[in-house]
Amino acid sequence: MVEPSTSPLLGLDREEIAALVSEVGAPSYRAKQIMDAVYRQRVEDLEEISTLPREFRERLAQSGVTVGAARIEKKFVSQDGTVRYLIAFADGQSVETVWMPEGDGGEAGDGSEAGDLAERFAENPTSDTSRAKALSEENEPIAALKRYATQKRTTRDRTSQNGASQNQGRASSGRSTICISSQVGCAVDCQFCLTALLGVKRNLTAGEIVGQVCAVLKDQKVSPPEDRINLVFMGMGEPFLNYENFVKAARLLVEGVGIAERRMTVSTAGIVPRIHDFGGESIRPKLAISLNAPNDALRTRLMPLNKKWTLEMLMAAAREFPLRTREWITFEYVLLGGVNDTPENARETAELLRGLRCKVNLIALNPGPGIDFTTPSAERVAAFQNILREAGIPAFVRRPRGRDIYAACGQLKRTVEVATLPEPQLQSISPATEG
Ligand code: SAH
Repeated sequence: MVEPSTSPLLGLDREEIAALVSEVGAPSYRAKQIMDAVYRQRVEDLEEISTLPREFRERLAQSGVTVGAARIEKKFVSQDGTVRYLIAFADGQSVETVWMPEGDGGEAGDGSEAGDLAERFAENPTSDTSRAKALSEENEPIAALKRYATQKRTTRDRTSQNGASQNQGRASSGRSTICISSQVGCAVDCQFCLTALLGVKRNLTAGEIVGQVCAVLKDQKVSPPEDRINLVFMGMGEPFLNYENFVKAARLLVEGVGIAERRMTVSTAGIVPRIHDFGGESIRPKLAISLNAPNDALRTRLMPLNKKWTLEMLMAAAREFPLRTREWITFEYVLLGGVNDTPENARETAELLRGLRCKVNLIALNPGPGIDFTTPSAERVAAFQNILREAGIPAFVRRPRGRDIYAACGQLKRTVEVATLPEPQLQSISPATEG
């Protein structure tokens, strides 16, 4: 991330900052001041760390220390309030980071029905009064999620939810979500994803991952924990192919920036050995798995990594994953018209997930140039969802966010010129949307 002669503070943890402070011969309490300045105040320059004496700041600068803040190079604002940021690092590489004032339609506190439930349990896990006590603590939220989520939805339900979701969200309402990238590009080669077309350029450092969050918080003038911010590692890249940096970044986001673990979700395409490792981490976000197909033949066609880590291996890892109280695994399923969206596919998916503490987020394909699939109709998406729900699997349809600025799932490709999608494509997606 940096020229060889500089060393950024952003990305260092408490111990590393303490070591740096002692190396330059300053008293140890300076470490906390630096930690606060970098992660809480989110300064961009050493000069701004007013708690440090000038002479100490100069000494740091002379030894090549910088803040290493990420720089917002471009910013695209969608009609729905979503903002896509192009964020640049010292070597000129850039990634995309997305701000969704109303969430992404599926994770804690994002304003969707799934998110609202998650939010309730995240914020006030014991408030579910006498019923919660009567039932096991562990199963009550899941039972509630199921009750809520397995009811058949009508078009009217969906329309009214759409109406409600038109209101502009505010950070303080607990709905805002930041979607961050973990790599420049991606190596996984999912056939329906625009990021895959870039290939992978390099991993991001922990500081670059955290730097995206700091830059967006600053630009949006919000600050956790006062403002409830949710975070999803669902931008460019495969977090589990940049595992060490991702894990360190998650820890810094909790300990430094002050975002709660339960407000973060990481999504993986299915790097099975890392799912096992992740289950053993002491600080870890919630887990989402991009499923996208219920059998090996289809999944391998859509996601070539399935050859190496088959569905059997993936599902074994999911079943063994040590879920915490009130936690479930999210499975994402991108619906591709006529490819993986048949009633048979839905039944097979329900069978595959039977007995797992999980929910499914359905995402109708977000189209893009070079992507050879079509977006299924609203009816088809609803039919898929209903089959899952009738089989007892909580299933939600994610509303696409920021599609007009190429900020939606699978559209992150560092697109600088924003093309407007043809109207019919947009219309075919929107009636199916709900949280
Ligand atoms: N590499 C990780 C993190 C990226 S998350 C992963 O694959 O999980 C991005 C999510 O968007 C994934 O669930 C992916 O399946 C989905 N996605 C990719 N391309 C898409 C597209 N064109 N339309 C809708 N969703 C897409």
